[in-house]
Amino acid sequence: MAVFADDILQAAEAAELEIIEAVKSLDRIVDRNQWKVIEAFQRHQVSDFHFAGSTGYAYNDRGREILDLVYADVFGAEAALVRPHFASGTHTISTALFGVLRPGDELLYITGRPYDTLHKVIGEAGDGTGSLADFGIGYRETALNPEGGIDWDAVAGALNEKTKVIGIQRSRGYDWRSSFTVAEIGDMIAKVKSLKPGLIVFVDNCYGEFTEEMEPPQVGADLVAGSLIKNPGGGIAETGGYICGRADLVTLAAYRLTAPGIGGEVGAMLGTTRGLYQGLFMAPHTVGQALKGSIFAASVFARCGFRTKPAWNEPRTDLIQAVAFDGPEHLIAFVQGIQRAAAVDSHVVPEPWDMPGYEHPVIMAAGTFIQGGSLELSADAPIRAPYIGYMQGGLTYSHVKFGVLMALQRMRDSKLL
Ligand SMILES: *Cc1c(COP(=O)(O)O)cnc(C)c1O
Repeated sequence: MAVFADDILQAAEAAELEIIEAVKSLDRIVDRNQWKVIEAFQRHQVSDFHFAGSTGYAYNDRGREILDLVYADVFGAEAALVRPHFASGTHTISTALFGVLRPGDELLYITGRPYDTLHKVIGEAGDGTGSLADFGIGYRETALNPEGGIDWDAVAGALNEKTKVIGIQRSRGYDWRSSFTVAEIGDMIAKVKSLKPGLIVFVDNCYGEFTEEMEPPQVGADLVAGSLIKNPGGGIAETGGYICGRADLVTLAAYRLTAPGIGGEVGAMLGTTRGLYQGLFMAPHTVGQALKGSIFAASVFARCGFRTKPAWNEPRTDLIQAVAFDGPEHLIAFVQGIQRAAAVDSHVVPEPWDMPGYEHPVIMAAGTFIQGGSLELSADAPIRAPYIGYMQGGLTYSHVKFGVLMALQRMRDSKLL
């Protein structure tokens, strides 16, 4: 058994006492979401023959069709498109945006700079890559105000007759800021639609699914996208993504994924179907385990003198836990400790490296069953002041706890704690 210093174990024990109530309120969310998922399965009479998968064109794959209906129900949407053919979250989001935007239209992101991988999807005019800009689709964004909220004056100024889609990112991703709750997203949607009726509101839901009792379509989002390599895949789906929302818009996205006129009516599921169903079934529970781990981590790291965001007792709407360390040595020990606790690739010691597209060296811990699976415990950090480490996921709470203890012990062994 791993040996942890007594005071580290005591900090963990104190943290677990401190978070009892917070964990209890999490249990309520897990229950509600679990029941919601089971009831959707029941309503559509999911049976084991639905898991058979399909080959070739895969017309009338009943398992695929029912999976779309189950997702639509769970997310409170008119329709859904759930496919292993989405290669990543970025691909899913790109498909949704290309599906509904046309040359001359404008996309306006009101939650500040979107997630890094979307910058090339938006692109620059004439960049030759086939980006939105390359197809004559305009883009604007408004920065968040100093309090981290929407800058409504800027939004009102940026809206014009070309604006067709409003972009909202639920998770703040890897910024030292708060994420937006579903209730806050609902307020944004009401406000933006009062400024210009007829807008399509798109929500990047990555990392947010099942962290609250409601999802963005239930507060008026027209189109929502996310990755099955994250929350709704439950750690079991081997690849894929989903789009859900208004039926006409989901159809347009499906035309983009396959071909106009064909849409979601083809697409062999091969052997993936059962994993997509079972992953969705597991997702509320697994997201709950990851969230419980994040709350524990926030409490323990705070006890050891580090700043955490969100704090253990702040509301959460995504999986990401940020911890601010004193310097690069702490940060590196943190990430290496998380890797050391993995069931897969624990013998690998991560080192900072110059990843393409990043200005500073980045260090990552990812010992996962699904490559890059970020509902599994993982951590990453750019090596630059203010030395913030990000951790997310964990298929089981015990694993997250193990990772946090390993990280602290590693700091202790290097005389950093
Ligand atoms: C992960 C993520 C994406 C992109 O998903 P990939 O699977 O990495 O392509 C987009 N937006 C947010 C908020 C994310 O967390």
